[in-house]
Amino acid sequence: MKFLRYSQHGRPAYGLLEGEQVSHLEGDIFTNWQRSGKTLPLAELELLAPVQPAAIFCIGKNYRAHAEEFGGPPPERPIVFLKAPNSLNHPQAPIVLPRPEQSVQIDYEAELAIVIGKGGKNIAEAEALAHVFGYTCANDVTARDWQKQDGQWARGKSLDGFCPLGPYIETELDVSDLKVEGRLNGVVVQSARTSELLFSIPYLVHYVSQAITLSPGSIILSGTPAGCGMARSPQLWLKPGDRFEVDIEGIGILENPVQAAG
Ligand code: MG
Repeated sequence: MKFLRYSQHGRPAYGLLEGEQVSHLEGDIFTNWQRSGKTLPLAELELLAPVQPAAIFCIGKNYRAHAEEFGGPPPERPIVFLKAPNSLNHPQAPIVLPRPEQSVQIDYEAELAIVIGKGGKNIAEAEALAHVFGYTCANDVTARDWQKQDGQWARGKSLDGFCPLGPYIETELDVSDLKVEGRLNGVVVQSARTSELLFSIPYLVHYVSQAITLSPGSIILSGTPAGCGMARSPQLWLKPGDRFEVDIEGIGILENPVQAAG
């Protein structure tokens, strides 16, 4: 099933995508929901990020080729970091760049995001998938210059709107071997399969939940494939007028335009 969230009279509402129609839902998608009976055409809706995450966990360098393009060996254990909640952004909403005098090295990272449905702590790897509600697309947008100069990643990863998410949460998906693609202005710049992940989806849920309680709606970005602008060319830094797509097999396409600072 494909769950989504949309803006209804300025308030968020949940829906279920059924063909080109969206069935409005009542209740809590993680525990108890039902169709209200109202349906709306998908094309008329302003989609929101499909969840308002309690926390945004991210995994660094989880594809060997991406670790290598940054000049390092593959990590021995998952590199866990956070994006602040203010970084959440919606499908089709602009990624607003900082002012050029602040940062000009704005990079894209297409990623499969895990959406936690059932919270928990110290979740066993064998039980991990029972805690997953579904999967969606994410763009771990990053200010590389801030990431480097700060000595840690909080600021460079957490600019307002630097975590586009969506468009849907797919709940019935085998994620062991899916194509993950990033396209800049229609040109493929990142492409890999989830079978290449160094640390698997169940292991990541297990690992992050060690000592950290996961909640319904928490998300874990599973890492980005090789092909970031950082490793390839300054020509690929995001510029006003660009558009970036994260396309994951079985989920859909998350597309965002890029806009100059106001
Ligand atoms: Mg990332």
